[in-house]
Amino acid sequence: MRALRFVGVLGAACPLPACQGARSASPPADAIAFPGITGPATKTVVPAEVPAAWSAYAAGGRTRLAVLLTDTASAWLGLAHGLKSIGVPFVITRDVRAALEHRVVLVYPMISGGVLPREALAALARHTRSGGTLIATNVLGGGLNDVFGFGDVVPSRSRVEVRLNPGLPLTARFDDPRELRLPLGNGPQRRSLGSYGYTAPVEPPLATYDDGTAAITRRELDSGGAAYAFGVDVGALVLIGQNNRDQFIARSYVNGYEPTLDVYLRLLEAMYVQGEPDAVTLGSVPQGREISVLVTHDVDYRYSLERAIDYARAERSMGIPATYFIQTKYLRDWNDNAFFDQAAIGHLKRLDSLGMQIASHTVSHSREFNHMPLGSGEEAYPTYQPRATSERTVTGASVLGELRVSKFLLEHFTGLPIDAFRPGHLRNPESLPEALEASGYRFSSSVTANNSLTHLPFQLQYHHGPAAETPVFEFPVTIEDEAPSALASRLPEALELADHLRRYGGLMVLLIHSNVVEPKLSFERGFVAGVKARAWFGTVDEFGRFWGARNAAGVDVTRSGGQRVVTVTLPATVEGLTVSTPAWWRFVGVEPAGVVAAGPGKVTLGPAVNRVRLVFDAGGQAVLGTGLPH
Ligand SMILES: [Zn+2]
Repeated sequence: MRALRFVGVLGAACPLPACQGARSASPPADAIAFPGITGPATKTVVPAEVPAAWSAYAAGGRTRLAVLLTDTASAWLGLAHGLKSIGVPFVITRDVRAALEHRVVLVYPMISGGVLPREALAALARHTRSGGTLIATNVLGGGLNDVFGFGDVVPSRSRVEVRLNPGLPLTARFDDPRELRLPLGNGPQRRSLGSYGYTAPVEPPLATYDDGTAAITRRELDSGGAAYAFGVDVGALVLIGQNNRDQFIARSYVNGYEPTLDVYLRLLEAMYVQGEPDAVTLGSVPQGREISVLVTHDVDYRYSLERAIDYARAERSMGIPATYFIQTKYLRDWNDNAFFDQAAIGHLKRLDSLGMQIASHTVSHSREFNHMPLGSGEEAYPTYQPRATSERTVTGASVLGELRVSKFLLEHFTGLPIDAFRPGHLRNPESLPEALEASGYRFSSSVTANNSLTHLPFQLQYHHGPAAETPVFEFPVTIEDEAPSALASRLPEALELADHLRRYGGLMVLLIHSNVVEPKLSFERGFVAGVKARAWFGTVDEFGRFWGARNAAGVDVTRSGGQRVVTVTLPATVEGLTVSTPAWWRFVGVEPAGVVAAGPGKVTLGPAVNRVRLVFDAGGQAVLGTGLPH
């Protein structure tokens, strides 16, 4: 459960005065019948949980960041998903010798004499002396204090904040107070993530806690080598955010900047890029743009669908697509009349013809979605009869029923594949990831970015748990329209937020209910105009296909004389993927894919699949830390 102060307000069945003005005179139907239509016919079977294997992340070349996994029972999957989101190529290994073939080694989740033999500890110590970069979380023993440059390590569960020291090269990119102060917990409630603080740092640390001990130490050597010790388990923090289990860390629920995870991930990215002279990373925004924007609408009120057409026409004239999450409400209940009827189906076809995406927004739109039973997987129209009986009660409803029956009806009547889902009120049952997978959904927009502690998309984990992954990706809501201050008055804040996110390729998902057209459409127009020069706009499906293919992509670099050959492996087709390289590399050629744009430090690919090789001239630049084989 979320803390009360963060309980969602999204997707109410339109309590706004603007909704009340257009009541129909026709008598409400108790249930909307489509004679002869039943389905879905096949049963939905939720797969059993299969824990992810670290070895699935073991393949890759030596220019990647190496994660030396010292405890397989750790939150390593959170770390892996975090690195995927930020775009740092990595491998995971349990073999210290294999790890040390990489210039940048991240030891996770801890260094101690208990998890690493003496020879391995000695080899890690030598790595920085020969120009390598050693990053670790939780340096608890093993005699490496001198390597990392601190005196002692002090555990605590009462620290509430990590404060970045902005005066250092690795932290210079951060200047917002919400980047410089990263919460670990809620002081007054005395709930906090456990952490380790390092005392007597030899060099000014990258970050300190509120108790004055170092949260991220830093030791940079004349050899070009470096060592950094984190006192926060970054993988565990990623799991808290991405699993919607943040009850005590986020500073707001929605509509704000909450970059806690992103700052840690950007720091790791910066350490990798600094430590690996052939570092190449994957951009997070299609077509080399600076920010991804997904305009979405929730259609969950009897007059919302015809008003959606007004939005869609306006969006078409603006040259952007949008995604419409449709409630397939065929039953009258406490919330509203039934409205998924023949007229609604006509509106859906019109939305499609205007270039918009149709997605599911449940059948019943109940606030109790997160408490519903999983269901049998055999729920079908018309016998599935979920009805809200009050704001917080519902009968005849199940998670699988909401997912599969809404998808069936939308697909049946539009002929379109429905593979994106958003729950009413962003109510999010623990079973949602695996239920989405089982029901055939691929994309979800079911949480807020702020509750997720990130403005980057991510892969959902089974049962919002630590162990297993699903093939479903989450695109969290950034801006919504039901906060107390009117959306129309919040345009400057929204543009300011976009300005933060464009600095690191963040995702901005707008949620606008189509219960009224103005003044919300004016906000949307103002926002689109304000970001258009820098933004990529797409539907959830378009972005989801990009993100899924990028998530599966690998990138490796080999040397050939003064040239660098970048090999991008792409199991799925992707268009507009950007590869970021050292700024001094000069693009020479590519095969077989075309290149859309090549500039200093950045090449954007055209449609590509399987394997793409990019050749660069490295220009004889001095290579840092040449003590390692390549
Ligand atoms: Zn809704």
